[in-house]
Amino acid sequence: MVKLNENYLKLPGSYLFSEVARRISAYTAAHPEAEIIKLSIGDVTRPLAPAVIEAMHAAVDEMGTYEGFRGYGPEQGYPFLREAIAQNDYNARGVEIRPDEIFVSDGAKSDCGNIGDIFGVENVVAVCDPVYPVYVDTNAMAGRAGDYDSRSGRWSRLVYMPCVEENGFSPAPPQERADLIYLCFPNNPTGAMATREQLKQWVDYANANGSILLYDSAYEAFITTPDIPHTIFEIEGARTCAIEFRSFSKTAGFTGNRCAYTVIPQELERNGVKLNAMWNRRHTTKFNGVPYVVQRGAAAIYTPEGRAQIKESIDFYRTNAKVIREELTAAGLKCFGGVDAPYIWLKTPDGMGSWAFFDLVLDQANVAVTPGVGFGPSGEGYVRLTAFGGAEATRQATARIRTMLHSGGVAPTGR
Ligand code: PLP
Repeated sequence: MVKLNENYLKLPGSYLFSEVARRISAYTAAHPEAEIIKLSIGDVTRPLAPAVIEAMHAAVDEMGTYEGFRGYGPEQGYPFLREAIAQNDYNARGVEIRPDEIFVSDGAKSDCGNIGDIFGVENVVAVCDPVYPVYVDTNAMAGRAGDYDSRSGRWSRLVYMPCVEENGFSPAPPQERADLIYLCFPNNPTGAMATREQLKQWVDYANANGSILLYDSAYEAFITTPDIPHTIFEIEGARTCAIEFRSFSKTAGFTGNRCAYTVIPQELERNGVKLNAMWNRRHTTKFNGVPYVVQRGAAAIYTPEGRAQIKESIDFYRTNAKVIREELTAAGLKCFGGVDAPYIWLKTPDGMGSWAFFDLVLDQANVAVTPGVGFGPSGEGYVRLTAFGGAEATRQATARIRTMLHSGGVAPTGR
């Protein structure tokens, strides 16, 4: 009889977004006239940049000729894309990363999850709380998380690093041992960013303890504050302790196109083994490359036109973030994030629970948010709002929440 990977059986249901969707559907069924605005979506809404489309069209045409046709490409990505990434995302910032340290993939989600393949199950894993759930669930699947306790919402073998108002949602290295440490900056869900000094602390901790930082920088394009590092490799010493995940998803609207990359420096070794070589073995064995057409589209964001066009989209989302932050702050709410990230982390008023506030805002303002507690126990008392909606919808949503608060909870609209 086949034995299953019983670690999967320990996973709690994927509750958060399905429960959000269920409550929205139930509300809409009971109030068919309500126009719900979703500030809960974590997906981009603006179309691909013209430069990307043009490059993809040209690549499709190439594929239709004998001379231009390509079958399997290099699993690690075409040299034209790896070189463009190294040059534009790293070398241009004075950071030494070479094309052979870059692995192009179909997503940062896959890479953050799959990276566990090259690490033993004995390793102690540290995660932020609240957290992007992929880090936790993939380690649970691999047997590194221990057992799940539904009362506390925690796994027995994970080290949780609370991200709370007191530490600016950016935790310091833990007291206990942590071998693999997931850091995500700009952060999903809190929208927080770590300073250069904070990242230096992490790099020093990792080098001193032989730990590895798994640095997810999927939202790098949203960084605006001067002197905030855009990559962990801006920090001295990171080449011997860090792996970085980046994605074209939020940078260039590629969530439906699928293209990302992982950076593993050649100096990163444990027990005399190069992790770059290990990941290369894993990647070339289990992955057959991102489509040529998609990689051509991704490379187009590094042209002058492409760069200007994606900046326009990011600026659009950034304006939404500013509107949410400023409007809700003016309404007397406490907002975090939304400066270097497309997420606003809103503290619920009067110590309300995340789900209670979700229900209130859905009912009274017809706005959908995401309950913070769904990202981890320390998210209780917060909700996440995203800047990925339309400009008018974002303005309307924040106006409705303001009205709701000022009128003491009376339904302002859509009912
Ligand atoms: N990392 C973080 C922190 C995310 O929030 C997301 C998507 O929401 C991803 C990675 C996924 O990126 P990709 O679309 O490249 O798989």
